[in-house]
Amino acid sequence: ASLFSFHINLIILRSLFMLVQVALPVPLYRVFDYSLPADMSALPNTTSTQIPQIGSRVEVSFGRQTLIGIVVTHIAQADSSVPLHKLKPLNKCLDAEPILDDSMLKLAYWLARYYHYPLGEVLAVILPTLVRQGRPLDLLITHWRILPHITDDDFRANAKKQKQQFDMLKLYGERGASEDVLLLEGMERSFLKTLEDKGLIERYIQPKQAAAPVKLAKMPLDLNDEQQIAVTAIVAAHEAKRYTGFLLNGITGSGKTEVYLQAMQAVLEAGKQVLILVPEIGLTPQTRARFASRFAAHIVLLHSGINNTHRLQGWQDCRTGHAQIIIGTRSAVLYPFADLGLIVVDEAHDGSYKQQDTLRYHAADVALYRGLQAKIPVVLGTATPSLEYLKLVDEGKLVEYLLLTRPGNAKPAPMQLIDARLQSTHQQTQDDGARYDTGLTDVLIGAIQQTLEAGDQVLIFLNRRGYAPVLLCEACGWQADCPRCDAHLTVHYNSQAQRSNYSSNSYLKCHHCDWQAYIPTVCPDCASQNLDTKGMGTTRLSENLHAIFANPQTSKALYPIIQIDRDTTRRKDSWENIYQRINEGKPAILVGTQMVAKGHHFPNVTLVCLPNADRGFLSADFRSPEHTAQLMIQVAGRAGRGDKAGRVLIQTLQPDNSLLLKLVKDGYLSFARELLQERKMMGLPPHSHAALIRCEGKTLAATTQVLKDAIANLPNGHNLAILGPIDAPMSKKNSRYHSQLLLLAKDRRQLHHVLSQWWQPVLALPSAKYLKLTLDIDPVGW
Ligand code: ADP
Ligand code: ZN
Ligand code: ZN
Repeated sequence: ASLFSFHINLIILRSLFMLVQVALPVPLYRVFDYSLPADMSALPNTTSTQIPQIGSRVEVSFGRQTLIGIVVTHIAQADSSVPLHKLKPLNKCLDAEPILDDSMLKLAYWLARYYHYPLGEVLAVILPTLVRQGRPLDLLITHWRILPHITDDDFRANAKKQKQQFDMLKLYGERGASEDVLLLEGMERSFLKTLEDKGLIERYIQPKQAAAPVKLAKMPLDLNDEQQIAVTAIVAAHEAKRYTGFLLNGITGSGKTEVYLQAMQAVLEAGKQVLILVPEIGLTPQTRARFASRFAAHIVLLHSGINNTHRLQGWQDCRTGHAQIIIGTRSAVLYPFADLGLIVVDEAHDGSYKQQDTLRYHAADVALYRGLQAKIPVVLGTATPSLEYLKLVDEGKLVEYLLLTRPGNAKPAPMQLIDARLQSTHQQTQDDGARYDTGLTDVLIGAIQQTLEAGDQVLIFLNRRGYAPVLLCEACGWQADCPRCDAHLTVHYNSQAQRSNYSSNSYLKCHHCDWQAYIPTVCPDCASQNLDTKGMGTTRLSENLHAIFANPQTSKALYPIIQIDRDTTRRKDSWENIYQRINEGKPAILVGTQMVAKGHHFPNVTLVCLPNADRGFLSADFRSPEHTAQLMIQVAGRAGRGDKAGRVLIQTLQPDNSLLLKLVKDGYLSFARELLQERKMMGLPPHSHAALIRCEGKTLAATTQVLKDAIANLPNGHNLAILGPIDAPMSKKNSRYHSQLLLLAKDRRQLHHVLSQWWQPVLALPSAKYLKLTLDIDPVGW
């Protein structure tokens, strides 16, 4: 007995002198100390011998708020900087078991350090909303069943709706069904609660069954040599339990997906999970179908379109190992995994992998870190590797495998320039006899015509939605501008027929802040009626094509013209419909923005036209040529994916542009190599490391001042190159002003060293009050 009471005393002593440090979702770079309540058993989810575990959620009082945070350390009270009388006890412990294991906490610490972001806010980004809100994790495995002794007689006749719901539950027999399923079947939560209160039904927790081992649903293809070499290397890294970063550098249509599939097979058969990152929501159903047709496995889809409940379900499935193949967009790289064996980042060059607010992480970089952490291979697949990856290959940090041919008969489509200065653009005549310019050269129109007559499809890429980017007064030069941004308003008409000024389909819209206005009938400045649209968006291009390819008798278009952009795919099923129309395979013209560039497989497209995609080569942003070329190559890659050869026509006003010529003649890789050399000479990323500081406020004077003060605060002898402060590219956006400052360092460690002493004091500068300051590590555009 004495030993027993000694033990109890020890526990009480320990809990009296132990504190927990909690990371809270507040913009402060520190964790917070809390004591344990004197009576530990008063804490739900703890026993009297237990301190809330590291990695579990706790509820605490913080100022006047109640917040949920994560326990990150246990410390002795003597080590706390908070005096005893100021310490507050925890309110609640929400988890009996940690919800984040050691490796997830390490990931969070790494993200906080690398991106100079507060740990508590990093954790808030990592956790799904419902987890952050403190909901129980077993929410989704709650089952309901009818109590064994209950019969129909236990109902009073007037409780008709209750009886209905009771009968529905009865169908599921004595084991009942999960709450999820019941809600889907139309049961109402309030009735479940009522029936429970009446002592008719009960809830219980049914742990998920372990998923069955993955089986092949379809035989793999015979790999060509290039594919085989890549698969062998990836599988070898997996078998050796060794981290390796692979750059799978394969031209569009070279069968990168088949490489993923066969590497995955080895990993899945070893009982491990595979994470596949994809750029965009539009891609996930198509991607899912490809993986589902190969493997009989539990596949989980994670993208921004799923609701919070499904997100939590997916999170739990990843964490428990129930999910075997996980296909997700950017944020899936932050999920917890029971036993991850391989990460694939498809279209790894894609800009959507970079988060553009809060924690500005790059999913491919995080994937490489996680691979290192878990000792597993990571495959970055792309036809247009970013310069960063090429440099990592040069440094031996990524292992490159090239896929330079397309399997079967398909040949990569050759690219050809059309000099739009020498060729006149095609004119059409309007109903009123006036002539207008279609923006398409006769050469281009001839090629389109020829392709359609051969029974094939044409894709025309125009990266601008709406009717026209500018509304202009011919009399005085007035232009319709957004009152909140440094930008023109885009003219939207649904079709020529609906061009009345007040129809709901005709309006002016800002593509940066969504400001909308009616289209004026007269110029607001000079009252002239000579308002005209300038430039071409996808709607106008489609309309011009309608006119060009119209049956002269009926003036109906001879071929379907399918417009694919954010406006035409807004509705949930619209992509499906568009796909169906395209896959019928009949001759058609597809007009699309960058939405069509990514990963889509349109087997009957043999001609791709880019009427003015080369503009990006003239932009001030030094990354613009790289991004423009990537987009052009991706779009060009849509041509000739079936059995028939394809071709790509690029209409340009600058056919002598050396970058454009290099790209067209020598291909993306030599183009990229040349850019890389240029960046080296200029000391620009990836030959230096960048941090971009942005400041947002009510005036440019204020935002510039903070950045000047920030420069003055840089430590002596910092050795960084400083560019700015300058006005941001679109300095006024949504009625707020933006300035920026770019820091460049030769050495990454040097940059982080400066940031770690400098950034927090900058946030605390007196001039920074009421302004929003953000730090972007490895920014992708400015
Ligand atoms: P990528 O992802 O590199 O653009 P895909 O994986 O979509 O290319 O492959 C293009 C086409 O080639 C697909 O239809 C695919 O089924 C086919 N394919 C890939 N590998 C092989 C192979 N080894 N043998 C025959 N066809 C293949
Ligand atoms: Zn005017
Ligand atoms: Zn705007």
